[in-house]
Amino acid sequence: MKILVINCGSSSLKYQLIDSETEAVLAKGLCERIGIDGKFTYKPANGDKVVADIDQPDHKKSVSIVLDALTDKDNGVIADLGEIGAVGHRVVHGGEKFAASTLITEDVMKAIEECNDLAPLHNPANIIGINACTELMPGVPQVAVFDTAFHQSMPAEAFLYGVPYEYYTKYGVRKYGFHGTSHSYVSKRTAEILGLDYDKAKIVVCHLGNGASICAVDGGKSVETSMGLTPLMGLIMGTRSGEIDPGAMEYIANKEGMDLKGIMNVLNKQSGVLGMSGVSSDFRDIDDAIKDGNAQAKAAKDAFIHRVVTYVGGYIAAMNGVDAIAFTAGVGENAPDVREAVSRQFGYLGVQIDDSLNNIRGEERIISTPDSKVKVLVVPTNEELMIARDTEALAK
Ligand code: AMP
Repeated sequence: MKILVINCGSSSLKYQLIDSETEAVLAKGLCERIGIDGKFTYKPANGDKVVADIDQPDHKKSVSIVLDALTDKDNGVIADLGEIGAVGHRVVHGGEKFAASTLITEDVMKAIEECNDLAPLHNPANIIGINACTELMPGVPQVAVFDTAFHQSMPAEAFLYGVPYEYYTKYGVRKYGFHGTSHSYVSKRTAEILGLDYDKAKIVVCHLGNGASICAVDGGKSVETSMGLTPLMGLIMGTRSGEIDPGAMEYIANKEGMDLKGIMNVLNKQSGVLGMSGVSSDFRDIDDAIKDGNAQAKAAKDAFIHRVVTYVGGYIAAMNGVDAIAFTAGVGENAPDVREAVSRQFGYLGVQIDDSLNNIRGEERIISTPDSKVKVLVVPTNEELMIARDTEALAK
């Protein structure tokens, strides 16, 4: 079955057409600046990349441009739309309503809409993408794959916050966690590579990208993760603060004369390694600045690594052991020095990295020494493939 995977943002739409039998990507690309002007990128597996300025006033127009490109007689990869057996959508927040991917029905759409409050920047865009596909591909089954679903297995002791209980029962204030599709894919793949029984393995996944989170996967289930009610919690990220004393928010607000909206904007968009370094949210720029002797950039990177270490250590304790630590996403896949610095702190558990094995970027590999008690791996994430697999299983 050919599956169209869609990841819709408020002004962007990423897509891949995946053949579920071979798991090959037939074509992929990106619609950007939707509602502004419109940029379109299309790359067929065996052809040249096409980049074009195409007006995209709304997501429906973007989906129609994608479908035209896929069926184009010169550059397309399918003869007609009938070849697309199902569409899989990334949906950011499923609240407590969705512990697994689901076939989209009218009731499911209502339930997703009810989660909008929890992810006001993301869920409405996901819904727009689903509606656009419903209009343009009537009758084609669609599946929602939630970033939060994998973490619904967390026990209450891990997901409850230390606030009045009625905030949980009345408003759903709790830890939900994100990047679930990535944590699920990477942990499964880690068990496969190591020949471990997934149902028994204890794995810590470090998803370190522009957004970053850590997950403890015990017996194939997420039992702890570092993002919270929103994706602002936990690690220091590209532009997000991660964990911060809530008291600091009031203090900064008073000093800077800011309201809550202003504070949230700073914590989401002007913090993380960007705010700390004053240089960039991108680790490549941070590394260049460190080479030039920028002490503030070095402090930002050191703090990022320190925070990762404290979470990994906490999660190993929560699972009462660990078989493997896996690194993924932009930084996790491409920064050997970050992997080395984190792993070094777990030497006391018998973690040992092989520097030559660790000297890779974006490749799947075991990077610990053969006699390392705990295995360490790089596993490039593949959220689109997970979405395609779930979509095929539900649409069949
Ligand atoms: P992601 O959100 O997973 O796409 O990760 C994007 C981030 O990965 C970028 O902002 C960079 O900080 C980081 N990154 C990508 N390539 C490299 C690299 N070669 N070395 C260090 N960091 C990188």
